[in-house]
Formats: sequence, structure tokens, C-alpha cells
Amino acid sequence: MKILLVYPQHPETFWSFNYALKFIGKKSAFPPLGLLTIASLLPEHWQLKLVDMNVDKLREQDLHWADYVFMSAISIQRNSVLSIIEQCQKAKVKIVAGGPLFTTAYSDFSGIDHFILNEAEITLPQFIHELQQGNPRHLYRSDQLSKLSQTPIPRWDLIRQSKYASLSIQYSRGCPFNCEFCDITLLYGHKTRVKSQSQIISELDQLYKANWRGSIFFVDDNFIGNKHKLKKYILPAITEWMQQHRHPFNFFTQASINLADDDELLKQMVTAGFDTVFIGIESPNEESLTECLKNQNTNRDLIASIKKCQQAGLQVQGGFIVGFDSDPLTIFDQHIRFIQQSGITTAMVGLLNAMKGTLLFQRLEKENRMLKTSTGNNTDCSINFIPKMDLQALLTGYKKIITQIYSPPNYYERVITFLKNFNIPRFRSFQLRFSLIMAFLRSIIILGIIGKERLYYWKLVFWTIFHRPVTFPLAISLAINGYHFRKVFENTHL
Ligand code: SF4
Repeated sequence: MKILLVYPQHPETFWSFNYALKFIGKKSAFPPLGLLTIASLLPEHWQLKLVDMNVDKLREQDLHWADYVFMSAISIQRNSVLSIIEQCQKAKVKIVAGGPLFTTAYSDFSGIDHFILNEAEITLPQFIHELQQGNPRHLYRSDQLSKLSQTPIPRWDLIRQSKYASLSIQYSRGCPFNCEFCDITLLYGHKTRVKSQSQIISELDQLYKANWRGSIFFVDDNFIGNKHKLKKYILPAITEWMQQHRHPFNFFTQASINLADDDELLKQMVTAGFDTVFIGIESPNEESLTECLKNQNTNRDLIASIKKCQQAGLQVQGGFIVGFDSDPLTIFDQHIRFIQQSGITTAMVGLLNAMKGTLLFQRLEKENRMLKTSTGNNTDCSINFIPKMDLQALLTGYKKIITQIYSPPNYYERVITFLKNFNIPRFRSFQLRFSLIMAFLRSIIILGIIGKERLYYWKLVFWTIFHRPVTFPLAISLAINGYHFRKVFENTHL
């Protein structure tokens, strides 16, 4: 059996980091971890090829080679998925599809031969068995959640590592919280399921043996969902491994804000090599947080929690949402003030949209406020339900936030606010790589000579050299990220 694994293209968004990736000569931020894991679940004697359309073109000859195309996608890849289906139909190759987009919305797609939904560790073996018997079904689903002890190491040999800025590991699935707009618990449940210490160490070994050095993204939606196991087994094991291997990786992940309440956990994560964490802040407005059931963010000083993580040695990236029913007309200025004060440089602000199956979707449907399917891109100024606030006021306010927080004076001021508060642990040494030297030289030309922000760029360079020289590489990479955000916004919204 010849299987072509196809990963659809991500459109240009804040998350694509495409303008920043050009500085370091990379094509994509992350590899398709799900498909690489699926590849490991397929029979060993099957022949496999992978085309990540964020890195390579899907060629006709690849489609003609394949007996089946296996595709996995998230909602933002919807348009690319539709064009892949068309290409496969022309080439008369059968399609097998799975992953979050199809699990929540498979009925939106015609032209797919087999859907392998929910968790592939459970549904994929059933499909393979019935395919080998000659009678595969159209739809495979399961309410069961797999034990992650059954999840194999991804087939890293199928990608060209050098095209990616970061590689990935999944430690856990599920989240104990219940945010109204989120589909993670719908897909993976409230109980946090985790891999064992030995699985994580094997994955680190595998990446090390494959000569990867640098950034690794722990893709978990909430890395601290099971703090007990993390603190007792996983972080101590990663710390020991990193010390034995002379810190070849730096890690980043996603977590809930209650990370800031646990001094020991913060310390353990930083000691293990974590330098960045993405946290869903969502809103500075307490009523909006209560409305969306983001209870872990209420009754606390959010800025103090963020500063605590930064002081411990973690850069905090933040997710923010506007468009809640409880948002007042002053919400846009509140967001701008909050983001500036927090020193969150990578502030991903999006418009609220209701993903199929979420509690929010169910509520809005009951209220007859749903309009259409979400594009999955919460930064493209689309909104798929009738908001309480006047739509025009909401869109104007949203654009005001983005224009202001990524304007060079505000963005660079925020970088300095962050660097002043950020503590880099002593053991975290900077490893000079060719790609980083090139990125610095490119930043001099693109940001320091021809860029609109050149004045602010040089101010940051000199401020960093004189006040926080140890943060210099980070300052340059943040300047580059700011350029990406501005370019995306200019291209899509102005
Ligand atoms: S904390 Fe994050 S992953 Fe968990 S339910 Fe809320 S938004 Fe989803």
C-alpha cells in the first residue's frame, strides 16, 4: 500500500509567523505532528511519503503514485482542504481524513472516502483491519479516549527538519477547565491524559539523535493540566536529561494562568529548559471572563500573574478575545492598556467566533444568533454569529487594538517593558547559530535601514546592549516578530 500523507496549507495569519520565518530561512513554524504520529500507527510494510503544503507543493505525480491520500487538518486549513479534495478527485485517488476539523465538522465535506475521527489510536486500527479485509466503512468514530501510553513516537524521518523553526512533542491531551468558546475539551475531554516519563525521554532521545538542536514546542493545550505527574516525574526527568546532554533544546508550551500560583512548578519548568509559555488571558474585563467561564482568570490580578511568570524566566505570550456579550464599548482601550502594561509582546488578539460543538455554539444556536461556519481564523475580521455590540463598532474597535499594539512605538516600548522584567536563568546559555547571525543581519537591513520602525529598532538595540545585554538575541527575535504582526495586519485588514 502506498500512502501519501498530506498536510494542508495554513493561510497567512499572526500564527503563521511567515514573515518572521524568512529571517531565519525557514518555511514553517511547526511540522505536522499529528500526521507524523499517524504514520507510526500504519503497518510497517506500507510505503509512506509526506507532503506538508506549508513547505512543499502537492504535485500530480505524488497523487498518481499513491493508493490513498491521508489528510489531517484543523479548521483554519478548510480552504486548502477543499482544494486538495478537488486535486485528489481529478487524480482519482481515494482520501482518508481525520483530525480536529473533520472530527467536529465531517458532514461539511463531500468527496472524502473514509473519515477516521476522534482519536486515531482507537479508530485507525479498526479502519486498517477492515481495509485489509476488503470492506472498509465510510465513517469511524469512538467516544473512548485513548491512553497516551499507546501513542507511538512520530516518524520524524518523513520530514526535512531544516525547513522548520521548531519541532514538537505532545505530552498530554485534555484540559480540566471549561472555557465556553474552546473545543479542546470537546475533542480530548476534561481529564488530562499524559505520556509516561520514559515516553517523553525517548522522544527527546529521538530528536537529539536526529541532530535536532533548538526549539521544541510541547503542543499540549494545557501543559499543567496534571500538575502532580508533571512535577513529580516529567520535569525532573527532563531536567536531568537536559543537563546530561548540555541543554540542546529550549522548550515552549501552552498553560493556564494558574501556573503563576505555583512557585515550585514555575521554577521546575524554567530549570527544565522552558523559556516561553502561551497563556489564554482572553479579556481584562471581569464580566467577560465570567461570561465565557474562564473562571481561572477571574478574581486575580492578571498583570501580576503575568509579571511573576516573566520574572521566573518565562516569556508570556497571550491570547485575547473581543466580542463577548459583556464587553463594554471601552473594551478596546482596556485591551490596549492591559497589553502595554503586561509586557506581552506576542499578543494574539482575535474576534470571538463560535466553533461547532462548543458550549458557546450551543448557547448562540439556542438564542438564534448563529450565522455561518467559523473560518477558524480569528484574526481575519470575520465573525460567525450576531454579536451584542454593534458589528461596525466591534470591527473598528478590533482594528484599533491591532493597529495600536503593533505600531512601532507601542510594540518596541512593550518589548523593553518585558525585557526589564524578564529574568534569564544563569544556566541558559545562548548558542550562536548561522541562521541566527543571518537573522540579525537581515533585521539590520529590513528593520534598521529600510523599515518604518528603524528609529525604534536602533533604540531597542542600544538599550539592550547597555541595559540587558544578555537578552540581546531575544530582543532581536522580538523585533522580527513585531515586523511579522505588522505585515499580516497591513496585508489583511488595511
Ligand atoms: S484553559 Fe485553554 S485549553 Fe483549557 S478549556 Fe480553557 S481555553 Fe480550552
